Amino acid sequence: MRLTALKGIGEKTEELFIKLGVHNQEELLEFFPRDYELFFAPGSIGEIGYKTFGTIKGCFMEPVLQRRVKKLVITSGIFKDEIGASIKVVWFNAPYLKDLIKTGQPYVLKGRISRKYNVMQMDQPRIFSPEDYAEKMGTMQPIYPLTKGLTDTLIKKAISQVLDSGLMNDINENDIVPECVADEMGLCSREFAFRNIHFPGSREDLIKASARMAFEEIFLFIMTMKMNSESLRQESSVIVRPNEQTDAFLKGLPFKLTDSQEKVINDIRTDLGSGFVMNRLIQGDVGSGKTMVALAALMDCAFAGYQGAFMAPTEVLARQHYENITGLFKEHGINLNAALLIGSQTALEKRVIYDALEDGRINIIIGTHALFQEKVKYKNLGIVITDEQHRFGLKQRQALAEKGAMPHMMVMSATPVPRTLGLIIYGDMDVSTIDHVPVNRKPIKTAVVDDSYKPNAYRFIEKEVAKGHQVYIICPMVEYSEGLEAANVVDYTDMLKDVLDESIVIGMLHGQMNTAQKNEIMEKFAAGKIDVLVSTTVVEVGVDVPNATVMMIEDANRFGLASLHQLRGRVGRGADQSYCILVSNNSSKEAMERLDILKTSTDGFEIAAKDLEMRGPGEFMGVRQSGTIAFKCFDMFRDADLAVKASEAAGRILSGEIALTSRQKEALDIKAGSKFFIL
Ligand code: ADP
Ligand code: MG
Repeated sequence: MRLTALKGIGEKTEELFIKLGVHNQEELLEFFPRDYELFFAPGSIGEIGYKTFGTIKGCFMEPVLQRRVKKLVITSGIFKDEIGASIKVVWFNAPYLKDLIKTGQPYVLKGRISRKYNVMQMDQPRIFSPEDYAEKMGTMQPIYPLTKGLTDTLIKKAISQVLDSGLMNDINENDIVPECVADEMGLCSREFAFRNIHFPGSREDLIKASARMAFEEIFLFIMTMKMNSESLRQESSVIVRPNEQTDAFLKGLPFKLTDSQEKVINDIRTDLGSGFVMNRLIQGDVGSGKTMVALAALMDCAFAGYQGAFMAPTEVLARQHYENITGLFKEHGINLNAALLIGSQTALEKRVIYDALEDGRINIIIGTHALFQEKVKYKNLGIVITDEQHRFGLKQRQALAEKGAMPHMMVMSATPVPRTLGLIIYGDMDVSTIDHVPVNRKPIKTAVVDDSYKPNAYRFIEKEVAKGHQVYIICPMVEYSEGLEAANVVDYTDMLKDVLDESIVIGMLHGQMNTAQKNEIMEKFAAGKIDVLVSTTVVEVGVDVPNATVMMIEDANRFGLASLHQLRGRVGRGADQSYCILVSNNSSKEAMERLDILKTSTDGFEIAAKDLEMRGPGEFMGVRQSGTIAFKCFDMFRDADLAVKASEAAGRILSGEIALTSRQKEALDIKAGSKFFIL
């Protein structure tokens, strides 16, 4: 069903949804909140204490003031609670508030708390009448991933309509989980799950709903994988021998490959020469040097006369791999033709690449999903490597096979997988592990600090920049979206321009910039033309700028440790001493202990496991694990037992013990074919 059939959605809005990957009403149902906003009972100002977020009730005794600073309109006022304590409140670029806010009238304000010179201030709060707020109190409101022009309110309205429509009649019918399995496990119905994942009736309902969705996800994943591996085992493939030019190139690098890298390259070469299709996962923590291993495989294939495709999850990363590889080829006089193919290129640019791929002029193609669009035809694709976690479903493999012979497949991942899950999740693949990082690395020095340390941090950053190094600053998180993420980066960058030495070049990166803009900024940063990059977590995956030595993360307490570990992995990639500054204003004992884990451990696996231990398995989305968890609901650490159950169920189905209905078979087939699995 088209989205435009919903009230309030015209063609323009439909386009925006499509940008988010939502093409129709069915997909809208599966467009899950990225988090939930809680509405606690409002308190007094004194109760805020060290919290970074507060909800207070009171009123403005004087009219709010408005002033202009450069391009910013700043609205501010003094808000008094019922006890008589007061706090300064500030809004940026919301001129309409001046007339909206009435003196002496009670309001509830909900917003971030910042502290400047130990004076508290509330930034950009939302304003409610006490009646409106009372209605929301105790509920969990969904927060969706947004794009410019779409608001949470609009999405909520659209989803409510779908939840009340005839579409829901099919929801339970289309269940791919056999009834007996769902019963045994006490899973809630699909309908209940969809309703409560969007609009939780309570925390308990949300946990039930999310367990059902998580099970479905992992069950589908395991079913696909098992069906996949059976058909793949004996698939024959091109034979590629180790190449001397590749060896010479590897020897000529400014560093020596680690033993781990050498071992993994050998594993790959054995596969490539076996006559059977390779299906291998390369696991290696951030910074372990996976790219070079991939490049060796691509070069062997290319020298043997086969094309290689190297796929990255984002354009930023694809472009970086492209620059890196073409740079190396040039430097080392390697006579192979590497090209880039990404969605944001013009139709003309793409046409040129398509032609060159089809007639074999391109040896190595680097890109995003664009590599496997229908229009792309390969002359003789020999290997497909996906960086950072993409896995192909059966149908994609078939589609690929149709583009040529069955290519070798290699997947690279930094996501730590609990050991008990390894066999279940990667059961269909051979696994190689790069188990130590290059020796020239100095361990990253990690500090956990609070706001009061920030002036020192900025001075430290100036010193590092003076040494010619570069810095990432991950911006404070925003509690609710509505475009604020971007505003946040912009505000923070403006603030930095005032506090850092003027000679320092500051750049910014956030999710609402278009791809071309993001690419441009990343390229400038990689080229050293930007000293300090203020960013949201978009830099989390894979980006490699070895000259960057400082990673400062604001609101660190609100990230999952695995995410923090990934972010920290953006520095410490060269020979220089690197630093990670975790800023946290939550000085509770638990919060500090949690972050302290990062001070003592550099092992991604250990960190993720400890994080779960501290969060407790019942904790639901309490901390964002963006990036590392690419399943929508399934969490490898939290839901390990669900995976075990799903694996058992899949085994019983494939052995014929449990029969699927024809409808289930059909649904499974469609779903298994349409999804990219990201691990
Ligand atoms: P990841 O495994 O996170 O993808 P990369 O492949 O991006 O890591 O490598 C991180 C950095 O380490 C790169 O700058 C790369 O050139 C460098 N590197 C790779 N292998 C080695 C090595 N054996 N010794 C020193 N540096 C290396
Ligand atoms: Mg990488």
